[in-house]
Amino acid sequence: MKMPQNRPVVTGPQTGHVVLVGAGPGAADLLTLRAARAIAAADVIVHDGLVGADVMAMTPATARLISVAKRRDRHTMQQADIGLLLVAEAQAGHKVVRLKGGDPFIFGRGGEEVEACRAAGVRVDVIPGVSSALGAAAAAQMPLTHRDHASIVSFVAGECRGLAGQNWVGLAGKGRTLVIYMGVTGSDQIAEKLMADGLAPDTPVAIVERATLPDMRVLRSLLADLGGTVARQAVKSPALIIVGDVAALGNAAAITAIAKVDPCPVC
Ligand code: SAH
Repeated sequence: MKMPQNRPVVTGPQTGHVVLVGAGPGAADLLTLRAARAIAAADVIVHDGLVGADVMAMTPATARLISVAKRRDRHTMQQADIGLLLVAEAQAGHKVVRLKGGDPFIFGRGGEEVEACRAAGVRVDVIPGVSSALGAAAAAQMPLTHRDHASIVSFVAGECRGLAGQNWVGLAGKGRTLVIYMGVTGSDQIAEKLMADGLAPDTPVAIVERATLPDMRVLRSLLADLGGTVARQAVKSPALIIVGDVAALGNAAAITAIAKVDPCPVC
């Protein structure tokens, strides 16, 4: 593997820097104190679309906001260009906050942004955030590990570089919890893939939509009906899919709908 080259960091009274800040899953009071302080001190805030409205409301009026959210109706900024933007703003002397949903280093492409800054000799720090899997688990009271149910938990991406390229064999099953980010669109194929890999059709699954936000929904189903549940309940991104016995747990008050199917109508 080719290691990225780092330039020496240039510092001085006029030099800016970049802070990658995890904005958490949505609710503003899930920000860390360090994140809140970095936001309050920022001159420029480069944010994506998953940052909760309440978190955006905390950005100082004096800060310049730059959205790099993915939108259908306009050209989405390429990752390399986001790196260049962060570097240029820092080199212009600004305190730049790169505000990202959840945690910057869980499917957030934070790694590439840190590398871009280091390669340019720009000082960069990272402040962790509550990843949406942890926010969803807490809000639904669905523990990702449990002494009686699961001692392994895996985070996987349903869409990152296409489902076909993902090897999840052994990540789901008895004693394991699989949390799928970006899986709503491909939920049908995901269920097929997991069953082809040997997972029982009646494996419990949960879908947590807009975790920690006031309109959060928690849906429970079985693996064989994952795609059906997503379609019937019109689940929209952002949502997580939790596969494994822990998906059958959870606080009843937090469960919006339980979709039960007979995994084998014939037998
Ligand atoms: N860095 C983020 C993940 C970014 S990838 C994190 O640590 O959470 C984007 C995916 O995250 C979405 O497709 C969805 O699967 C998940 N996600 C982000 N916020 C969410 C939320 N509030 N509720 C449910 N899923 C969420």
